[in-house]
Amino acid sequence: SSHLGSEKEAALAADPSDGPTIFDKILWKEIPSQVVYEDEKTLAFRDISPQAPVHIIIIPKVKDGLSRLAKAEERHFKVMGHLLYAAKIIAKQEKLDDGFRIIINDGPNGCQSVYHLHIHLLGGRQMNWPPG
Ligand code: AMP
Repeated sequence: SSHLGSEKEAALAADPSDGPTIFDKILWKEIPSQVVYEDEKTLAFRDISPQAPVHIIIIPKVKDGLSRLAKAEERHFKVMGHLLYAAKIIAKQEKLDDGFRIIINDGPNGCQSVYHLHIHLLGGRQMNWPPG
């Protein structure tokens, strides 16, 4: 596999189709991850390339076509609400009482690199605005 110099290069090289991703390997425990939260619908684990002292990825266990937010349909309303609520629970668990940020990257312009819907939960430092 080629060396990718940046998150942006990874995103621009990513396969945007609805096939299996590295997050399936994490779900199936084929590759290790640091799981911080799990329930019947969601799994959350630490990002391998953290952009803040706390950087957690929250994913639906069943992708059901949700390769990206742009593919969301009415049938996904419940799981999307569940992901957002899990972010709140995890923020509390990680003691991010002074605040945090959640991010969903969509598509090439959004710098999405893994095509399995996920929420980034970032915290533990002062965030800046606007994002890059
Ligand atoms: P995105 O760029 O929004 O698609 O986010 C994908 C995220 O997944 C990036 O922040 C990566 O660092 C992270 N990531 C990729 N592979 C792994 C892995 N094996 N374990 C944990 N996080 C990963």
